[in-house]
Amino acid sequence: MARRVYEAWKGSNKFLFGGRLILGPDAWSLPFTLLLIITPVSLFSVFVATNLRHEFLPSNAGNAILVVAILFTLLVLILLFLTSARDPGIVPRNSHPPEEELCYDTTVSSDGRQTPTVQIPRTKEVIVYGVSVRVKYCDTCMLYRPPRCSHCSICNNCVERFDHHCPWVGQCIGVRNYRFFFMFVASASLLCIYVFSMSALYIKVLMDNHQGTVWRAMRESPWSVMLMIYCFISLWFVGGLTGFHLYLISTNQTTYENFRYRSDNRINVYNRGCSNNFLEIFCSKGKPSRNNFRAFVKEEPPRSVTLPTTWEGPEEAEEENREERRQKVEDDLDIDEDIMKLQQRSNAEEGSNPVDHKVDIDQMRVGSNERAPTIRSEARHGNWGTRGNAQEDVIAGSSVRESRSYAAAEEGR
Ligand SMILES: [Zn+2]
Ligand SMILES: [Zn+2]
Repeated sequence: MARRVYEAWKGSNKFLFGGRLILGPDAWSLPFTLLLIITPVSLFSVFVATNLRHEFLPSNAGNAILVVAILFTLLVLILLFLTSARDPGIVPRNSHPPEEELCYDTTVSSDGRQTPTVQIPRTKEVIVYGVSVRVKYCDTCMLYRPPRCSHCSICNNCVERFDHHCPWVGQCIGVRNYRFFFMFVASASLLCIYVFSMSALYIKVLMDNHQGTVWRAMRESPWSVMLMIYCFISLWFVGGLTGFHLYLISTNQTTYENFRYRSDNRINVYNRGCSNNFLEIFCSKGKPSRNNFRAFVKEEPPRSVTLPTTWEGPEEAEEENREERRQKVEDDLDIDEDIMKLQQRSNAEEGSNPVDHKVDIDQMRVGSNERAPTIRSEARHGNWGTRGNAQEDVIAGSSVRESRSYAAAEEGR
């Protein structure tokens, strides 16, 4: 029976309602996040807003306090849903490496045997706004990541304009859900301020009513005090996050880029000026999903690759020996196997975890008179070790390895 895309999905996502909703693998944290929002608002409605309503009785102001709290909470929950249950901008995996990029090579072992191997350049350069940007090949997804795309080690997908993987919403934050994520965090901050202010107002009303001290009013409504403390602490987190993302949006950076390039003083090629950056995030047309999780999987016929037979044995080789080697060569032509070897070799060179979560998008500033003219493929993986210091950063649990190729470009300026 034909399987649907979500049933054959290679990433770590969870799907609900037959592939209509996509969650991250850590979506179990969502109910916890929901509790953190719904519990205080329920307590506020029952113990503060209802009592406050009686204070304003013949007027409608008391009702308005309760209605605003409920509508605000609904808005926060809708934004949370839009952030966590939809495609964040996953780049669909390829089932085989891009053929046009493959390099056919022959390696000669110490005993003179020649073995053809299939290799793929580890990086290539693309031009973004007239500036050369290096993009890296993703071994897991078998594609060259578009600029600003990164492979999330938790979801095991390449995500466009990857910001970070948010454990609170259990989803990647990428090109398709960043604006909802920001609005979620910002409206959660406003909700904190609102609940805090209304709880403080209730304390004030109690003080005025009974001509008591603030301590007596606080004893009378302990829930108001608890809510004020809760909102004050929460505001440090969500309010701080809102401020940080306002800064990121104004300079058109992602969290990932900010953590990675902070010390480098690099020119950010995506910064189009503050107002344009805000327009890009909030007013641009939403990017359609590149995945149809409910579509049926198209079964591809098995692929066979024919390579020029550059292999030649020693002249004195016996016929059966030759036959055996040819068999070996044919075995080696299996692309999957070669790519796997390549991946292992690359991992061994870097001495890192085999799970692919390394991203390398180096932004190279190229002077206007020496602007790189077209897309060109760069030297393959052997080169990056010799380029400069490799440095490891850790962002949201993912390890990032960096090669400082921009230094060479700077020198050439
Ligand atoms: Zn990937
Ligand atoms: Zn993720």
